[in-house]
Amino acid sequence: MKLPNIKILDEKDKTLRLISKEVTFPLAKEDKDLINDAITYLTMSQIKKYYEKYNLRPGMGLAFIQLGLPKNIFVIVEEVDEEKFENYVIINPKMLSHSEELIYVGEGEGCLSVNREVEGIVPRYARMTIRYQDIDGNVKEIRVREDISVAFQHEMDHLKGILFVDKIDKKNPFKDKEKMREI
Ligand code: ZN
Repeated sequence: MKLPNIKILDEKDKTLRLISKEVTFPLAKEDKDLINDAITYLTMSQIKKYYEKYNLRPGMGLAFIQLGLPKNIFVIVEEVDEEKFENYVIINPKMLSHSEELIYVGEGEGCLSVNREVEGIVPRYARMTIRYQDIDGNVKEIRVREDISVAFQHEMDHLKGILFVDKIDKKNPFKDKEKMREI
């Protein structure tokens, strides 16, 4: 595998604060290429041989705005088995419903745009259903849960210019811990 030449914006970059826009179809070739590059990058970042060789931080999600483009597109690469991956390409997502139950990632969320350890609770819905378009513009629905639900909400926040660190209470990073389930 060849490491794609993509540049991921750092949290200090104000571009990350832009609100991403609806995408129209058909997608431009450059957008399709960038989707493939993001998938390849995320996959390689989760394979030891590659993350060691290229000194990558492992990550499972990237929104287009992290690559400098304010478009409602994100990609998630989930390791479902040892070095076996499932990809999600999500365009123009809309949340249709979500669980009452809240969860948080005990070890803290990570983000390829945030190059530091951040402690604290980021409340997320345990389950949610979204409507979105696939790479060909077909309208679809998906129900996600647990860590994938967290990943989807993390990426959907990026499309609104929100970073996970914004959601942590600065004075009390573990506020309301008892009201949520740790995953
Ligand atoms: Zn992120």
